[in-house]
Amino acid sequence: MASPAAPPEFEHTYARSLPSLAASWAADISSQPQLVIANPKLAIDLGIDADWLASNEALHLFSGNGTTKDAERYALAYAGHQFGSYSPRLGDGRALLIGEFSDPIGQRWDLHLKGSGRTPFARGGDGKATLGPMLREFLMGEAMAALGIPTTRALAVITTGELAMRERPLPGAILVRVAASHLRVGTFQYAASLDSVDDLRALADYSIARHYPELDGEDNRYLNLLTAVIERQASLVAEWMLVGFIHGVMNTDNVTISGETIDYGPCAFMDTVDPQTVFSSIDEGGRYAYGRQPAITQWNLARFAETLLPLIAANPEDAIAPATEALEAFPDIFSRHWHSGMNRRLGFSTQADGDDDLANDLVALLQERRLDLVSTMRSLADHLRGRDIGFGEWTTRWETRLQLEGVTNLELIDRLQAANPIYVPRNHLVEEALSAAVADDLAPFEALLERVTHPYDEVIGAERYAMPGDPAPGYRTYCGT
Ligand code: AMP
Ligand code: MG
Repeated sequence: MASPAAPPEFEHTYARSLPSLAASWAADISSQPQLVIANPKLAIDLGIDADWLASNEALHLFSGNGTTKDAERYALAYAGHQFGSYSPRLGDGRALLIGEFSDPIGQRWDLHLKGSGRTPFARGGDGKATLGPMLREFLMGEAMAALGIPTTRALAVITTGELAMRERPLPGAILVRVAASHLRVGTFQYAASLDSVDDLRALADYSIARHYPELDGEDNRYLNLLTAVIERQASLVAEWMLVGFIHGVMNTDNVTISGETIDYGPCAFMDTVDPQTVFSSIDEGGRYAYGRQPAITQWNLARFAETLLPLIAANPEDAIAPATEALEAFPDIFSRHWHSGMNRRLGFSTQADGDDDLANDLVALLQERRLDLVSTMRSLADHLRGRDIGFGEWTTRWETRLQLEGVTNLELIDRLQAANPIYVPRNHLVEEALSAAVADDLAPFEALLERVTHPYDEVIGAERYAMPGDPAPGYRTYCGT
């Protein structure tokens, strides 16, 4: 047992194993660090002392003022395709890895500061983050986690006392992020550009040891790593699609090897079902529109595959055919995950002929009628309570199919309610909560957080949290702020 108010024991396996991918660096010192919000529940789940999290010592560590004995910090190197064009050197421009720690079941986590000052990778940026976007990332991570979707999360958001110049001066903030790792497709792109196959192999071996230990020692382990990442990313993006989540910036540096969602910038939950929905102000061509997310994931995974070719076969030419075959399986793997998620949402515990058509036809109806995804799926249970939800012939087919389940109506209603969330972070509510928070009123943020972290539990009186916003054409969120 840790003694009271003890910090986690940090290790630095990444920087030790992969020195060419990490630059030792110090955080800026914050003049007046203040805790805005902490996440004691997450701390406890990860074996971090919640008293320590609330302590001044933790605040000092998070604000760059920490004086722990081994104050090693690293900015991680990576490259990446941003909106399709390749940048050989991105990296943590405003972030630092402060260490890795192990949870009670022995899983390793990264603790990372976002907004901690300029690093050697900052290029033209100021190294800062601001309060609104960091609270957005905190909220989104918690909402996704509560929906059961793999994601990085945050232990805390603090303000630094500094101002950051944006369209106007805004309070500088730091997000204290926890991630299964910060290994990205962009990390592999960077390692592949070093012309040292040994460094690249060390990165792949490290990734396998950390995220896919079952592949260790296998003859085809690098091809199998590709297949395993394809599987996890396909599953992840299927989960996004099923809740209407739009990531917004699916650059290769924002695609994790662990399969977690990372970097909540200009992201949003879609209200009206429309594959062309785009939220990011910088995504002018609609590259990362809702409906394009699976195809873009496959494209990003192709960039990952390219980096692995020299490891898959001694002669990279020989690696192309098996890597291509693995990539070409993506649409089927995605579809399997998506249909399995839809089956659960439709109340089916088994698979039957015609299930895929039922799911596809329902989505076509939603799209045709420009309905809201989350609330419409949630209303399926109402049909079983005898309310007409207006899907005519489709509901008759669905009812016939439900009979095959051989369970009571009550059991089906329970299933539907456990599978279809009622509360997701709707854009208008997020905006409202963030505006209030930046004006020093955290109450709306906390109320919204409470709802979206219990996404399946309907609360009487909380109706406004379940409703889509007014259709607001041109809603945009901004990244890099
Ligand atoms: P993101 O959009 O957060 O995924 O960031 C893309 C890249 O830009 C990463 O290399 C970031 O570290 C970098 N970056 C974003 N904002 C800043 C900033 N204010 N200062 C320095 N680097 C930044
Ligand atoms: Mg990023």
